[in-house]
Amino acid sequence: MLKRYCNNCDNEVIEETDKNLKKEYPYVCKNCEENMYEFETYLKEDDVTMKKIKTTQEYFNIGIDELLFNNSDGYTKEELKLFDDGLEVVFFDNEKELEEEKEQFKKYTQSKKYEIKATLQTINKRIAIVLI
Ligand SMILES: [Zn+2]
Repeated sequence: MLKRYCNNCDNEVIEETDKNLKKEYPYVCKNCEENMYEFETYLKEDDVTMKKIKTTQEYFNIGIDELLFNNSDGYTKEELKLFDDGLEVVFFDNEKELEEEKEQFKKYTQSKKYEIKATLQTINKRIAIVLI
C-alpha cells in the first residue's frame, strides 16, 4: 500500500481533517507539528506483502538446477546469489509468517535504515526479502 511521508523527517503524515485548512494544507506531520502542502510530502510503498513477489528463477534469470547447485561451503547458488544481492537477506517460511512478523520486520528495517530491494520466493517456497 502506498503511504505518504514527510519530506523533513520521513515519518508518516496524516490527512488534515479541518475542511478549511485542508484546502491549502492537505496533510499534517505530527512529528514536525506542521501543516503540510502536498509537495512537502512523498508517497512510498509501505507494505512488503503488497509488492509483487517474483521467484528467484525469474529474478536472477537462472534455472532451478543451477540455483540448487551446492557449493563446497554448503550454500546453494540461490543463497549465495541472494546474499550478494543486498546488505542483508531475511527469510520467512511463508506468507503467513511474513504477515505475522511484518510489524517487527518493519521496525527492524527502519532501525537499520534498510530499504527493501526485492521480495522473492525461493525454490523451496520460502520468502526472501533482500535489503539494501
Ligand atoms: Zn515531519
